[in-house]
Amino acid sequence: MPFMALYISALASGSNGNCYYISNGHEAVLVDVGIACRDLEQRMKRLGLSPESLKAIFVSHEHSDHIRGIPVFSRKYGLPIYITPHTLRYGRMKMEKSLIRSFSADEPVPIGALSVTAFSKPHDAADPYSFTITDGSATVGVFTDIGHPCSELVHHFSRCHAAFLESNYDTEMLEKGGYPYYLKNRIRGGRGHLSNAEALELFTTHRPPFMTHLILSHLSKNNNCPLLVQNLFTGVAPGVTVTVASRFEETPLFEIAATGSPVPLPLPHHRPSVPPQLSLAFD
Ligand SMILES: [Zn+2]
Ligand SMILES: [Zn+2]
Repeated sequence: MPFMALYISALASGSNGNCYYISNGHEAVLVDVGIACRDLEQRMKRLGLSPESLKAIFVSHEHSDHIRGIPVFSRKYGLPIYITPHTLRYGRMKMEKSLIRSFSADEPVPIGALSVTAFSKPHDAADPYSFTITDGSATVGVFTDIGHPCSELVHHFSRCHAAFLESNYDTEMLEKGGYPYYLKNRIRGGRGHLSNAEALELFTTHRPPFMTHLILSHLSKNNNCPLLVQNLFTGVAPGVTVTVASRFEETPLFEIAATGSPVPLPLPHHRPSVPPQLSLAFD
């Protein structure tokens, strides 16, 4: 049996831009492109990754820190963009129509030998999704911009060998910080972002024994501190490589190899009704 592994990196992570790379060594997908084309090319090049290996971009939601780089990058490399009609409408991107594809919650999309499955998440956007990506052996989750740890998140997180998990804000820093009250409430109000404490609780309670990598993602610039997050998670789970993704540079490329655990099965269709709201990024 051939050796199977996934190769992953957070090429950018934070309210100034998000881009997550998942590959099986031959084919690769990006979840979101929230940084400029040139920055993305430079970051991939530093990791020895070729844009030609990319087969698709999946779009989680329409906030600018997730879509800003999509039109230029997708056009340059002729990359199909998987995006739901609602997100497309509210994102208002000028994209080549021939490149636009769609996806539905809980329906796996084959991209070469990879399979990408979306599931709904609570977030202040028109039609937001998280994703899991598998090669049939290892599974990686991209879990950012999540208002609270819902049961679907718990389900999918507990089946991942590696996860990009949002750890957006420290509760006390947000409370005592200078953000206006309404913005504080948007962030912590259940349709904003996951706090450090929520991410830690999810990790310690629902981490599967086969998880090898945790990449803490989408840290707030003003209400969090990378060192604080690193210290919070380090030592909690021996055997798990814990990394804090940066808004300024790419993480290393991590190899994720499965250790004989099951592949996630899609859940029955379930989509909470989320009213379209602001399409601005906030952290
Ligand atoms: Zn975001
Ligand atoms: Zn967002």
